[in-house]
Amino acid sequence: MTQALIVGGGIGGLTTALWFHRVGVAVTVFEAVPEVKPLGVGINLLPHSTKVLHQLGLQNRLEATAILTRELRYHSKDGKTIWVEPRGRFAGYQTPQYSIHRGRLQMLLLDAVKNTIGAQQVLTDHRFVGCEQSETCGVVAHFARSQAGEEQVSVRGDVLIGADGLHSAVRALFYPHEGLPQFSGQMLWRGAVETEPFLGGDTIVMMGTNDLKAVIYPISQESAVRGRSLVNWVAERRIGKDNPRAKESWNKQGHKADFVSYFHHWRFSWIDVPKLFTETDEVVEFPMVDRDPVAQWSTNAVRAPVVKCTPVSRKPNSKRSLKHTSAWPDSIVRQSTADAAVGYQVAIQNGLNFADTQLAIGDSAQETVSLVHLSTSNRSVVVLHVYLAG
Ligand SMILES: Cc1cc2nc3c(=O)[nH]c(=O)nc-3n(C[C@H](O)[C@H](O)[C@H](O)COP(=O)(O)OP(=O)(O)OC[C@H]3O[C@@H](n4cnc5c(N)ncnc54)[C@H](O)[C@@H]3O)c2cc1C
Repeated sequence: MTQALIVGGGIGGLTTALWFHRVGVAVTVFEAVPEVKPLGVGINLLPHSTKVLHQLGLQNRLEATAILTRELRYHSKDGKTIWVEPRGRFAGYQTPQYSIHRGRLQMLLLDAVKNTIGAQQVLTDHRFVGCEQSETCGVVAHFARSQAGEEQVSVRGDVLIGADGLHSAVRALFYPHEGLPQFSGQMLWRGAVETEPFLGGDTIVMMGTNDLKAVIYPISQESAVRGRSLVNWVAERRIGKDNPRAKESWNKQGHKADFVSYFHHWRFSWIDVPKLFTETDEVVEFPMVDRDPVAQWSTNAVRAPVVKCTPVSRKPNSKRSLKHTSAWPDSIVRQSTADAAVGYQVAIQNGLNFADTQLAIGDSAQETVSLVHLSTSNRSVVVLHVYLAG
């Protein structure tokens, strides 16, 4: 049986582990932190990703935890409505959009991995530090254990998936000179506070402009059943690209003095934005950062970092997808499920010309499908999402 090593027990790594297990690949997850804790604030899962999570049997647990988002609204900074659109099932999709606490989602996935694959297949306190690979022997990965005096452990696998987040050590191994992510000039402060429900208790609101913006949405079904709303909020302010405070971290404490006063007029009949901020106990701060795509997402046995947990945005059986599938050379169609990224590279080497956000589909032989979501904007091709569907 193929042995997969997954580096990183975050949203992408755990979801990938569940899919590998589902398609018959033996899998072990290696997570750097000694104990996984439910960190973070709100995150939104759109229908293309919730379809995958439902196929993994997680629908009931998601519905018990998350808000099934009904509507997205854009407002000006003085509260005027600019645009309103339905979301998820309310917009006609088969599966919903969930607004959920990122840490609760991670714990839900972790429980699922432990229950279906086995708790022994998730190794915490295993920080990836390097690997060697060969065409014949797969990959040998090395991990350091901080709680064992930095003792090193080496593990062999057939394939290694780097799902170790924004500061991926796997990615850094192949792109050692990439440096820090690029800062957009936008600073975000985030928090969550339980309050009265607003606009039905299932609405996302985005207000203002890139100079000053607020994003507000409820994230907890457990609060909703008590008639309350755990409201996630983001306060965003343009501070300029050269600001020295722009060091990225998910857990850095934020200070209300840095942003609340900018929103002091944002008080409306349906929500009091500055009150929401001031009533929140814990605030985190992080800069909006991004990375450029890399030239190659897999090399021999080491595969692309899973960039997002949300997989693809088009239906696999849509006409466009099928058209592109039939146009592919055999070499792609025959790729095994673990080789979605390789299939993508073969596609590019064969000069296939994808428009933005197309699907690549491979491996009909094993009744499984590998999907790669491509974007060719700015003449660069980006693998945005990789997932396996049974
Ligand atoms: C603590 C934390 C809080 C976050 N909060 C939010 C939030 O509030 N809202 C939001 O939209 N997004 C948040 N994110 C980001 C979001 O989870 C991811 O961007 C997205 O889900 C993609 O998931 P991922 O699996 O690629 O990365 P992540 O979810 O970031 O997971 C990466 C995992 O890899 C582990 N890891 C890192 N380096 C190594 C290594 N060398 N060896 C082994 N394991 C390693 C990390 O500990 C982490 O568990 C947060 C991420 C983290 C880590």
